[in-house]
Amino acid sequence: MIDAKPCDIVAFTAHPDDVELNCGGTLALAVRQGWKAGAVDFTRGELGTRGTPEVRAREAEEAARVLGLSCRTNLGLPDGRLRDTDEARLLVVRALRLLRPRVVIAPPLADHHPDHGAVGAILAASLHLAGIAKYAPDLEPWRPHALLHYLGMRGGPPDLVVDVTSVYETRVAAILAHASQFHREGSAERPTRIAHPHFLEAVEAAVRRSGALIGVRYGEGYTLEGPVPVADLVALFAEEPWKHPEAQARP
Ligand SMILES: [Zn+2]
Repeated sequence: MIDAKPCDIVAFTAHPDDVELNCGGTLALAVRQGWKAGAVDFTRGELGTRGTPEVRAREAEEAARVLGLSCRTNLGLPDGRLRDTDEARLLVVRALRLLRPRVVIAPPLADHHPDHGAVGAILAASLHLAGIAKYAPDLEPWRPHALLHYLGMRGGPPDLVVDVTSVYETRVAAILAHASQFHREGSAERPTRIAHPHFLEAVEAAVRRSGALIGVRYGEGYTLEGPVPVADLVALFAEEPWKHPEAQARP
């Protein structure tokens, strides 16, 4: 059941650690800037080689605390079997109407795990449906203002990069809250992609790469569904992030 606290920005992802690995910095930064942020996980990650659903739920709760999320909920859909169905869309429409986010983050439409692409497609459809009053009319319609897809493992060029340098330590701490998933020295558990000793270096490389594109140390990149509304184009690009604020030429 979703705790119906409105949130300004909500990330919808497939598995309990997807938020932290892909957009945790963006959410932590939004919280620091005074917005309410939330996360909706589609599955309990029960197909994960390591960690039980109970352990993963506790880790997700701890990660949410680290990021400062106002709410985190789990839709309880089956791991490895996510599809863009009417049932899944209805669950998401209900979540969008209860949480009323202005900004929504979803996985890319294609990624290494089929569940990620499915969640991306479900969100793209549900964002529109949530604004149609006669679709599931027991809840007030709500259409978020923007849908962003995080880049995922395939890492295509982003349309937008959020500078997460100031919250990078928080981002890492939230990832490490999912301790059951990562490499542990001397563990006899079956090796996995995420538990490889070098996996977290690859995660860091991705945010370093996105950050480099806008001239900052760490960035989280996104592609956008729909155009960015711009009222003042010069203001949007007035500052060069790699320059110290005093070095910026101001009119
Ligand atoms: Zn995942």
